[in-house]
Amino acid sequence: MTISKTITKWYQSHARSLPWRKTKDPYLIWISEVVMQQTRVEQGMSYYLKFTEAFPNIKSLSHAPEDQVLKLWEGLGYYSRARNLMEAAKQLMEWHQGVFPDKYEEVIKLKGIGPYTAAAITSFAFNQKYAVVDGNVFRVLSRYYGVEIPINTSKGQKYFSELAQEILDKENPATHNQAMMEFGALHCKPANPFCTECPLNNSCIAYSTNKVSELPKKEKKLVIKNKYLHFFYIEHDNYILIEKRDSSGIWKGLYQLPLIESAKNEQIEAILLDQEFKDLINNQEYVLKSTLDMKHKLTHRNLYIRFYHIQCSNINNPSYLKVGEEELRELAFPRPVNQFLKEMKEK
Ligand code: SF4
Repeated sequence: MTISKTITKWYQSHARSLPWRKTKDPYLIWISEVVMQQTRVEQGMSYYLKFTEAFPNIKSLSHAPEDQVLKLWEGLGYYSRARNLMEAAKQLMEWHQGVFPDKYEEVIKLKGIGPYTAAAITSFAFNQKYAVVDGNVFRVLSRYYGVEIPINTSKGQKYFSELAQEILDKENPATHNQAMMEFGALHCKPANPFCTECPLNNSCIAYSTNKVSELPKKEKKLVIKNKYLHFFYIEHDNYILIEKRDSSGIWKGLYQLPLIESAKNEQIEAILLDQEFKDLINNQEYVLKSTLDMKHKLTHRNLYIRFYHIQCSNINNPSYLKVGEEELRELAFPRPVNQFLKEMKEK
């Protein structure tokens, strides 16, 4: 038996009785899909019922006062979705005389409707051959076929959409899609799926390879942070100050110029007035000769670096090493610092 037939058979005896499953009205299906995108069925049900009672059809929604729509949406979050519903209802009145189109290409043109919602509306209401791929379907497919491609990447989206389309029961797309989603929601759940009593466990790759809890895979999104670094080339009598980095991180163990970090992009004057800078030069007289800004990108950091060329009347800070040009050549510095030192040498 194919995965589709097995899951459809399971669905016939396990499906929940939900109001939007008892209708072929594309408007009601649309509202249910948008409401359920933000919440669980148990919580979403009352929103769906209140909303469709207040606005039972496209025409009533297209005339609805925004305040009333938002009030009914209150607590669901993502208020732009409620506004998109109103906008799309107006488009339906204007472009289709208030009749929901049955063509996917027309449905997806409506405000706020993407591939998932367009596939759901056209397959549930008009039995068209479009596979619906929601989080539940991703999970079932990823586990059953043992697919390790992360579902939150464009490669994953493409792969799973094609796979879902391939296994779609072209004779009964509406039931197939409902069954897949329900199977993922109730049976092949994110945690503690019912594998031992699963009708697919004989052929499920994740089950046979003990990878159920690992699938589906998600790629961790990198959070890129900005850092603002101020390096000081403090010069006196052909000597400068440097230090060895002992903090962790990619530059650990390298040498660097004295450094002040700021939380935001501070002005030059603000840094030079800072106590940290005054301590660094030991309150000596100084002249700011020049500054140089540089941006350096790391995988998880954007470094905004400013170098300050300072000429000092004396340098005697015991927290730093005092080195001449010869020694500098022997030591390893992070790439941007090295680049700056080269430029200083060529001056
Ligand atoms: S055996 Fe487990 S992981 Fe595989 S389809 Fe069934 S419930 Fe999902």
